[in-house]
Amino acid sequence: MIEAVDIEEAAVDETGTSDDYCAGKIYCANCIHCKLVPSSPDGDERYFLRVRCAAGKWRKKLGEEKVYKYCTVARRSIGSCDAYEDMGDAKDYIRDLKKSLPVKDEIFVF
Ligand code: SF4
Repeated sequence: MIEAVDIEEAAVDETGTSDDYCAGKIYCANCIHCKLVPSSPDGDERYFLRVRCAAGKWRKKLGEEKVYKYCTVARRSIGSCDAYEDMGDAKDYIRDLKKSLPVKDEIFVF
């Protein structure tokens, strides 16, 4: 699973694009429902790392589930969420997470 190839990073989309920690916001990365999952768009042995909301809160306009690139997860924040279950102190966690996240989307091999 170690073959890593850099892929061009697309622009981060709508929710939570700030790089700075904001005490008044909810960080999805610090929620128990934020899950890391492999995603293989071509159905072969290659996959990307994506994050999904296991509580079903991330939806496209037509109702399909939306997933995000793992490398963007520390920036995903929202004003409120009725399903949020924190996993501890968000400020320290988000700070440490930002340091450890890859800067670009990466592809792996099973
Ligand atoms: S339940 Fe709410 S806070 Fe938790 S990951 Fe989903 S959208 Fe984010």
